[in-house]
Amino acid sequence: MKPIALILLGPPGSGKGTVAKSLSAHFAIPHVSTGDILRENVKAGTELGKEVKAVMDAGKLVSDQLVNRVVEDRLARPDCAKGVILDGYPRTIEQAKVLDGVLAKAALETVILYITVDYEVIVRRLGARRSCPVCGAVYNLISKAPKKAGVCDVEGAELITRNDDKEDVIRKRLVAYDEQTQPLVDFYRARVKRFREVVGGETTTPEENAASAIRAVEQE
Ligand code: AMP
Repeated sequence: MKPIALILLGPPGSGKGTVAKSLSAHFAIPHVSTGDILRENVKAGTELGKEVKAVMDAGKLVSDQLVNRVVEDRLARPDCAKGVILDGYPRTIEQAKVLDGVLAKAALETVILYITVDYEVIVRRLGARRSCPVCGAVYNLISKAPKKAGVCDVEGAELITRNDDKEDVIRKRLVAYDEQTQPLVDFYRARVKRFREVVGGETTTPEENAASAIRAVEQE
């Protein structure tokens, strides 16, 4: 089987990150999340981080040019030669067109996993998300609460709400998704043979979501 570039499509809060981690472990290929890379840069105070912080805090999209460069650099690293999972990228048609060229050069087959979820479920789910400022572990007050309220199981640090997980910002991110990213679904549906769709329900467990994602991706 040709190595794949598995692109996860779906609104913020659809569970892409969690599913990506399971798929990454199952297929033994790296999980590349542009959101994570950008947040690491903000935290480390790099030039890139300084440039993108305000845009990210407002729930808007960082410029195509910046993110394309970040992804191109990451895909050039040797661990991506056997395949990669892209989470949170591409987010615009422009990014998708640039990525097409990069993947063709890298000889990776595009596979799409499109996760659909009701928006009200997303607002509830993201509003309940907390993360550890030290190790980055992600919790959810509804589905994955820490053992001790408000504190990271591993670090003992006080959990925080990401700026962009506040409700008004979540709604802005969903608008940005509708306007800029949803058109990618039609773009890929029309041109990619292995386009798979799964529903991320409110009642299914992360394990069930991971299992149905793996089945969908493994379909030839
Ligand atoms: P995420 O964790 O994927 O929801 O990303 C968090 C934030 O990072 C987004 O709201 C954007 O500000 C920025 N970001 C991440 N990926 C991209 C992308 N592909 N294009 C533009 N901005 C992005």
